[in-house]
Amino acid sequence: MNIETQVKKTLKKIKISKKEKILVAVSGGKDSSVTAYLLHKFRYNIEAIHINLGMGIYSEKCLNAVEKLCENLKIKLHVYDIKKEMGKTMPEIFKSKDKKSNNCFLCGVIKKWILNKKARELKADKIATGHNFNDELETFLINIFKGSLKLSANSGPILKTKDKKFTIRIKPLFFIDKKRIEDYIKKLNIKYVRGTCPYRKETYRVEARHFIKKLSDKEKENLMKNLLELAKKIKKDESEIKYCKICKEPSRKEICKKCELLYNKAFIIF
Ligand code: SF4
Ligand code: ZN
Repeated sequence: MNIETQVKKTLKKIKISKKEKILVAVSGGKDSSVTAYLLHKFRYNIEAIHINLGMGIYSEKCLNAVEKLCENLKIKLHVYDIKKEMGKTMPEIFKSKDKKSNNCFLCGVIKKWILNKKARELKADKIATGHNFNDELETFLINIFKGSLKLSANSGPILKTKDKKFTIRIKPLFFIDKKRIEDYIKKLNIKYVRGTCPYRKETYRVEARHFIKKLSDKEKENLMKNLLELAKKIKKDESEIKYCKICKEPSRKEICKKCELLYNKAFIIF
């Protein structure tokens, strides 16, 4: 099955309507660019959102790629600057963080927090991200390595939530292997950022990536099958959604993950 047919099938399976407003999180990389391209090609009602992380030349290249993509496809683009949103650039946040939390984990939590907040303000029905098949397998393995299998409870191309303050997230490329995305984007006239982020730091993900690289296609498929079967069986966290005491955003605990990471240890960061 080619990429386009497979993505169409995924979107149909998770029942995405063309009337819904989908906010595509675009980073400037190949995965999110292909996600925006395909949703646009299939005539979904999309707008794009980009968070400028303030990482110097790398962030400038990302913003440039995103602007070109949206200009070419005539997609409305919303750009947010992390300095304005958080008071510091991402590298400044990394410098002041607790040594134990790794860059990518912290960056991921902050980006998710901003995305959810902006999606609500922009009245989006869904947020679409560029996560692909390999990313999902890596996350599954990381959760196993860390003994946090519970975190895989929501795995799948759609992450539903009962609380309206959390915007539902979808992953149209969930079943598409990274290599196929690379081959596909080469055929399109899309400018995207090829280099790796200079602040990337994720030990577990690198280990998981090496492990997955050694697997055959059949073994990867079996791993995914197990992930999806397990995800259905793991008891989901049904605890009531509260509002974070610090930022007032929705959270399952008194303090949300973003504030826990940034303000814990006696409010050392801000
Ligand atoms: Fe953030 Fe890591 Fe992605 Fe860089 S590679 S943008 S630090 S999540
Ligand atoms: Zn908070």
